[in-house]
Amino acid sequence: MRRKVREREKDLARQRIVRLLRLADEVYSKEPELGLRYGELARRLALRTRVRIPKEWKWRYCKRCGSFLYPGINADVRIRDRRLPHLVIRCRLCGEVRRIPYLREKRVKRVASH
Ligand SMILES: [Zn+2]
Repeated sequence: MRRKVREREKDLARQRIVRLLRLADEVYSKEPELGLRYGELARRLALRTRVRIPKEWKWRYCKRCGSFLYPGINADVRIRDRRLPHLVIRCRLCGEVRRIPYLREKRVKRVASH
């Protein structure tokens, strides 16, 4: 019984996190500060409830300083196509650089069909 309640709480937290992150993405071009606030709220909620940030947004948090990153606002994002395509994300706040492998849909499908 207890376990079920906790699962339900986690589910609700997950939904709230996704809602906050979507909201953050919606407002950030007009109100970057509000967007950052939503991002921060989502992160705190995730930490408190031990819910993982969904994959789609995982890369948006700086590994070093924990900031919610917005390409063009507090982060630089470049796409490198040499060899393995990957994204290069640099946090403007602490300078942390991260590389994320990036596969295009087609490629993923081709690999999956083999
Ligand atoms: Zn950082």
